[in-house]
Amino acid sequence: MSRKQIVVVGGGTGGTMTANRLRRRFDSDEAEIHVVDRDDRHVYQPGLLFVPFGLAHVNEIVRPRRRQLRRGVVFHQNEVEEVWTQRDEVLLDDGSVLSYDVLVVASGVRLQPEETEGMTAAGWNERVFTFYNPDGAEALHGALERFDGGRLVVNLVDMPIKCPVAPLEFAFLADWYLRERGIRNRTELVYATPLDGAFTKPITSQHLAGLLAEKEVELVTEFNAGEVDGVGGTLTSYDGRVLDFDLLVTVPLHGGAPYVERSPGLGDALGFVPTDKRTLQTPVKPNVFALGDATDLPTSKAGSVTHFEAEVLTENIARYLADEELDAGYDGHANCFIETGFHKALLIDFNYDTEPLPGHFPTVFGLPLLRESRLNHLGKLAFQWVYWHALLPGREIPGIGPTMPTAGKKQTAVHI
Ligand SMILES: Cc1cc2nc3c(=O)[nH]c(=O)nc-3n(C[C@H](O)[C@H](O)[C@H](O)COP(=O)(O)OP(=O)(O)OC[C@H]3O[C@@H](n4cnc5c(N)ncnc54)[C@H](O)[C@@H]3O)c2cc1C
Repeated sequence: MSRKQIVVVGGGTGGTMTANRLRRRFDSDEAEIHVVDRDDRHVYQPGLLFVPFGLAHVNEIVRPRRRQLRRGVVFHQNEVEEVWTQRDEVLLDDGSVLSYDVLVVASGVRLQPEETEGMTAAGWNERVFTFYNPDGAEALHGALERFDGGRLVVNLVDMPIKCPVAPLEFAFLADWYLRERGIRNRTELVYATPLDGAFTKPITSQHLAGLLAEKEVELVTEFNAGEVDGVGGTLTSYDGRVLDFDLLVTVPLHGGAPYVERSPGLGDALGFVPTDKRTLQTPVKPNVFALGDATDLPTSKAGSVTHFEAEVLTENIARYLADEELDAGYDGHANCFIETGFHKALLIDFNYDTEPLPGHFPTVFGLPLLRESRLNHLGKLAFQWVYWHALLPGREIPGIGPTMPTAGKKQTAVHI
């Protein structure tokens, strides 16, 4: 085969894993691999949850992107302006053009706090915060340290968001943190969500609603946030309900990367990339693949999902280049630790067709599923090491892959 050009847009979780897996798969005379990202700061995003509580510092969860890429992967620190799929070209912000034989879209999501009226007006980063980026998480840390009681409202504006359990984890950790500081009895904690329950999956939702109640966090459902007054301290829904707050922790609207909208045929109305749910090929052209948060797939926007997808996607790029039939092996497998405070966490594991079930993961001897445990909390903490040293470099993790394991699961319906 002649030397192929593979361009990966985005050097985050999915882009880095994919480039490294491809580098391991192809010799340098078979493929030249390019990764484009606008900056050189790779953030371990699950760590952002811990920053507001002083349990992690931003400098511990950020590393240079270049250093996560295997030797022989070419890194371009540029903004992608547009993709011309008809010409197989990517336009960068310095006017240069990269031609490709295969394109991988791994550009994640963009946070859009400005899309909610008033959110980024007066009060932003003073009384209204997000922990979904490093600056916000750090600013919120300062605000929580100064917080001396009152009403703390946690709100997710609308789905889809990355890591749909992260705002719940924030509420659980806030309960723990406020108790540790001895000010929980003078704080009202509220969790406001547009969903009709605590979470999207019914069984898990019931379980998490139970935990919120246990921790005396008020659950407000079907709350579609329309307007924020960061000075007056009010969050108003489209149907006119008002939540007062002293501190608002928001997960703002998410959309796809702006260049996706500018690239003919690549994205949908929200800027997400329509993608085949099993092969990860896109309908725009057979040589364009996508993974991670950038896709429109009906599974969680999560690092675990991105990891499982990267395995199938790498295989399919090799098959595409060899003119072979693609592997339709991705089943929507997702896996998520849910930190619940007091050094415990829950673990859920599911796919497109199966709700999170109780039992153990990945086998009967593994971590408990749908049950709070200290072991899961340790698993969540250990994950950071696994991320930098095994997942990003593209190493295989025995027993954990794109197909959801069933060995340790109890297949019967559960009653909580
Ligand atoms: C607070 C928080 C907690 C989380 N916790 C967990 C967890 O516990 N478990 C879990 O599995 N997942 C978790 N996640 C989700 C996980 O981090 C993401 O799903 C994952 O990083 C997605 O990978 P990605 O490659 O699709 O996107 P990203 O890793 O976000 O990478 C996208 C990259 O594209 C680049 N980019 C975008 N547009 C352009 C452009 N035009 N030009 C150049 N570069 C561009 C960006 O700079 C970025 O580096 C969490 C996320 C957050 C925010």
